[in-house]
Parts: sequence; structure tokens; C-alpha cells
Amino acid sequence: MCQQHQDQAQDGRSHYRDPFPWHLGAFDAHCHPTDTMASIASLATLNARVLAIMATRSQDQHLIAKVATEHGISDSDSPLNYQGGSASVDPASAAPVGKKACKVVPAFGWHPWFSYQLYDDTASNPTYKAPNPENSDTSAAEDAKIAHYKVVLSPTPKEPSFLSSLPPPTPLSSFIASTREYLLAFPHALVGEIGLDKGFRLPQQWLPDDASCRDEGLTPGGREGRLLSRYRVQMQHQQAVLQAQLRLAGETGRAVSVHGVQAHGVLYDTMAACWKGHERKILSRREKKRIAPGAEESSSSDDDDDSGTNELETGAAAKSKKKKPALGKPFPPRICLHSYSGSADTLKQWFHPAVPSKIFASFSTAVNLGTDGGRAKLEGVVRAVPDDRILVESDLHMAGDEAEAVLEDMYRLVCEIKGWDLEQGVGTIGKNFQEFVYG
Ligand SMILES: [Zn+2]
Repeated sequence: MCQQHQDQAQDGRSHYRDPFPWHLGAFDAHCHPTDTMASIASLATLNARVLAIMATRSQDQHLIAKVATEHGISDSDSPLNYQGGSASVDPASAAPVGKKACKVVPAFGWHPWFSYQLYDDTASNPTYKAPNPENSDTSAAEDAKIAHYKVVLSPTPKEPSFLSSLPPPTPLSSFIASTREYLLAFPHALVGEIGLDKGFRLPQQWLPDDASCRDEGLTPGGREGRLLSRYRVQMQHQQAVLQAQLRLAGETGRAVSVHGVQAHGVLYDTMAACWKGHERKILSRREKKRIAPGAEESSSSDDDDDSGTNELETGAAAKSKKKKPALGKPFPPRICLHSYSGSADTLKQWFHPAVPSKIFASFSTAVNLGTDGGRAKLEGVVRAVPDDRILVESDLHMAGDEAEAVLEDMYRLVCEIKGWDLEQGVGTIGKNFQEFVYG
């Protein structure tokens, strides 16, 4: 499938004979450069125009904010208009001219891999019961922590050393409150990375000798090569963490970047539950005919809809409303299924016209070409994504040449599958990125 015109260089990286049109604006829809903070310096020289950088856990939310403060795309620049990355090319030397730095769009969120570190303090019977602060007995806090992990992890962990290595859980409500602050501080920030993962197992605890030789260049909290334990996070708990973030994204009118692994059915059901009662109305042929010529036929069952349109609104009226952000909904206005690994068939329910969120799917070399199964289904899945809803990402834990090379690989592959030449594909995917971030 899709043999590119490429030579495999000795350094293992792909080199293509035809140049990649970076100057048209290439975008990474999902990546984690704050996992390797030293790599942020490479933004000055990257060819990509804008990276959507994802938070995942307690240790990286403030790093995303810091990088966005220094490298965030300004409110006056839209991703498509910003001339960063390889802005223009000198035809004689093919060197970038007047190159501006690559910018970022920040995303704040809590990844399902770390969901066990939160407890739902809004539940009627929270899994963690904070001990009375007047109780000076430290073992009470430890007991409360262990009780939480025994409920949210499966199978129930029994090893005292594993349980005591886990951090005291954070209240979900305080995480949501601090994320709301970040979203208000960064008006175009997304919510991500959020989602569900049935395959994930917690890493084993650090052994005393390991901790001293860990790579200091990596942001703490990740797996860092540790072996995996037997423990998974209960799906119900992951769902509670996801639902709270979906509500926040709906309330603030932000797009979300969603992770779904071995959980495609339950992920769809969880998302669909948040837009229940807000589905778009599907017009029958007869109803469509009844609408006056020129009238807008898009519709929503929302009476108080402030972003969609009513059935009989004229095109002009609908357009004048279109750019208002959809605030105060219980579901996000735009959803990107990042490194989508489900089947083409499962994708159909997401793109059903009744779904009131705008759905995008993005693809990465790291995940979608990482296994034989992934490679086998990629072509069919890419074909099944509408042309105006496809995105490309690296999903790598650092910015730099490697991330850029894998981003280019996936851009080329998507273009080949879609039958687009590179200029057309880069232009289309750029517009899609703009639509995903800004609506
Ligand atoms: Zn990711």
C-alpha cells in the first residue's frame, strides 16, 4: 500500500525526492513536546507552522501554559494566516527566507492513563474521603489514599509497596477549576488530551535504584520504560473523568482532542450521552422539499441553539450567526479522534448527520503505522474520513527533526490515499486544522 517515492537513508529517516510544500503551512494536530522541555528550543527552526500541544497529567499543565505564553499563536493570527514555519522559499537556493518560528496552540486536559490520580469529589459516595484536617494521624491519609486506589484500579491491588508508591489523589473539581482558568487565560486553547483506554496498565513503581538514574530531561510522571503492572483503571472512573472534561469543553466552547484505545464503542457511547437531546434533526426528503428555495436546511433540535441554525433560517442569517462560539452546551463543539485506531465501520456513527459536534479524525505514524493491524486498516479508514475532517499529527514526546519527519510521512501517506497532490493535501489539511481549532 502506498509506496512513496522514497529512499531509505542510512540514518533510518525517510528522504523524499520531491520537496514537501512546508511553505503552504503544515500543522501537527496532536503532540507532546513538553515531555522533553529542551526540545521546545527547536520551535525556532521547525518547518511546521503550528503545533497543537497536549497536556496529560499534573506535571505538565503548567508547562503547556508556559510554552503557550512564550510561543502561543497570537489572537490576531489565525493558524492559516500566520506565516510561520517555512514561510517562503528562495527559488534559487530552496532555502527558507524570512522564516518565522513555529507557534503552538495549547491544550489542557487529563489523559485517561493518569485518571486514577483524580477522585470524583462530586460523586455521592467519593472513592477518597479526605481525613479530618484536625486528625494528625498520618496513617489516616494513607488509608484513605489506599482505599481510593483499591476502588478505581482493577484487579484490586494488594501489594503495600505498589499502593504506597501512588500519589495522594487530586479532587476532580479542583482540576476542572484550574483547567477552566487556563482556558480563560488562553482563549483559543483546546481541551486535551482526554479519552478512554481499556488496554492501558499502570507502570510498576520506581525501584529505589531506578529513580536515581532516570532521565532528568524528561518531564516526570511518564512511564519512562518501566515495566507494566497488572492494574488497569476502572472504565467507570475513566468515564467520570472524561465526562467532567467534556462538560467543561462544552461550557467554554472548546474543541477536544480525544484518545480512544480498545474502547471505541464505550467512547462513542460516553460522548453520545453528553449530547443526548441535542442531536441534529435529520430532515426527510419531503421536509427538505417543503423548505423554500435558498433557505438553510441545516438544523438542530436545540431551541436555544446559538451556533447551529434553525431549519428555516435563510443562508445569510445563518452565516451571520455561524462565527459565534457555541458556549454553554453540555458537549464540545468540535472533537478530534486523535490517532484514530478503530475501524472504518465504527467511524460511520461519528459522522452520522445527527451528531451535533463537528468530528475530525487525525492520524500519526507513531500509532497508526506502529502495528501490522494499524497499517492494514489505515487506508480504508483514511478513505472513510470526509476530506474536510482529516488531520495529521506526530503524537511524539518531543519537537524537532524526528517529529517533523514523521509528520511529513503521514501527510504524504494521507495525500496518496486521498489521491491529492501535496499542494492540494497540505492546503486542505491546513484548512481543516483551522476549522478544528477555531470553528
Ligand atoms: Zn497523545
